[in-house]
Amino acid sequence: MPDLVVIGGGVVGLALADAWLARSPGDDVVVYDKEPHVAAHASGRNSGVLHAGFYYAPDSLKAQLTRRGNQMLREFCHEHDVPIRETGKVVVTTSAEQIPALETLVERGHANGVEVEVIDEQQLAELEPLARTVDKALWSPNTAVAGSVAVVEALAQRVRDRGGRVVLGSEVTGAGPGWVMSVGDGRVSAGHIINAAGLYADTVAHWFGFGLQYRMLPFKGLYWYGNWEPGRLQRHVYPVPDARNPFLGVHLTVTVDGRAKIGPTAIPALWREDYGGVDGLKASEVWDVVRSYPRFLTSKHHDVPGLIRGELPKYSRSYLVNQASALVPSVTPADFAERGKPGVRAQLLHVPSGKLEMDFVVEGDEQSTHMLNAVSPAWTSSLAVAEHVIDQIRG
Ligand SMILES: Cc1cc2nc3c(=O)[nH]c(=O)nc-3n(C[C@H](O)[C@H](O)[C@H](O)COP(=O)(O)OP(=O)(O)OC[C@H]3O[C@@H](n4cnc5c(N)ncnc54)[C@H](O)[C@@H]3O)c2cc1C
Repeated sequence: MPDLVVIGGGVVGLALADAWLARSPGDDVVVYDKEPHVAAHASGRNSGVLHAGFYYAPDSLKAQLTRRGNQMLREFCHEHDVPIRETGKVVVTTSAEQIPALETLVERGHANGVEVEVIDEQQLAELEPLARTVDKALWSPNTAVAGSVAVVEALAQRVRDRGGRVVLGSEVTGAGPGWVMSVGDGRVSAGHIINAAGLYADTVAHWFGFGLQYRMLPFKGLYWYGNWEPGRLQRHVYPVPDARNPFLGVHLTVTVDGRAKIGPTAIPALWREDYGGVDGLKASEVWDVVRSYPRFLTSKHHDVPGLIRGELPKYSRSYLVNQASALVPSVTPADFAERGKPGVRAQLLHVPSGKLEMDFVVEGDEQSTHMLNAVSPAWTSSLAVAEHVIDQIRG
């Protein structure tokens, strides 16, 4: 009987399997993923940004775990020859009214032990000549970028090297305390079960009686690549986020090979793996999402009409690129015309309150643990999240 079964071979599930094996070498650990390769969903469809950890409320798990996760992932990349690019990041303002919010980010950074500083327009011009700001900007030297798929593949390899089994193409079709039913292995008993099923984490948690007040709301992230020569944009360039919503706003990132990329959006998606077209459309999921919207639309916690009004036009490439040109005036729709691989954010909605959960949400007992809201920056934080969660499980 496996000591641990993990449902979901994204970065979070693999990091948890890896941390368990680091702590208990020789244990029988199995990871099931329904896809034929790792990183098929969010973990391989993101921006690959190693966030520094300055956005998050100081009492949150995100604040506790992102700075350490950033260091751990950076070391992991160096140890496993996964390329990483030390870009740093600037957060710029588009009006003087945003300066107090920028200063709040700097205070949060300091409270979270993250190196950030306020810079002026002249310093911004030296760090990133293409970016524009109104008076002040924020500089984060520890933000970086790595290849998201490369990280997950290297992590899967480390799990195997530590004696774990990563079983691909093996959907878990049912589970409960002490047992898991998968396509690959049929019904197996397990000492402990971790649910790291990303977009399906709520469904799996409900099988165990956890997370019953939550539903997943999917948000689609579209990207457009620029045709600029690598290295023309040197730093990630972000706007000041709207504190009422859990998304960071349209930004420009540099890929690990130096390309400039605009996105991701946070457009409401109609089903969980809604990457475009009708591939994988599941009518029951559309119904579930549509049913959740009235609660969300009337939420007093977020500016939902504003979010929807702001996001839906971003289906238009020229609209999106024009938004990004407020941060980097030289971007043009003609230059940013290559579509990137879209991703879908698994964003947890607390149904009774209509609140989108901003922090990581973990529930469980002695028999199972549920990673219910592994939202951004869970890719950055994954190794630290895993260390923290395994410590909680093993005591
Ligand atoms: C557009 C976008 C941009 C982002 N940018 C960043 C960024 O720059 N930096 C950052 O730190 N974070 C970023 N994030 C967040 C980050 O990608 C996620 O927090 C992280 O990847 C979550 O990992 P996960 O393992 O929980 O989910 P996933 O990668 O989705 O993995 C879940 C896995 O579970 C499997 N699964 C589901 N159901 C079953 C089942 N029944 N049986 C077996 N397997 C199952 C799926 O196939 C999948 O492989 C971004 C996310 C998105 C969508």
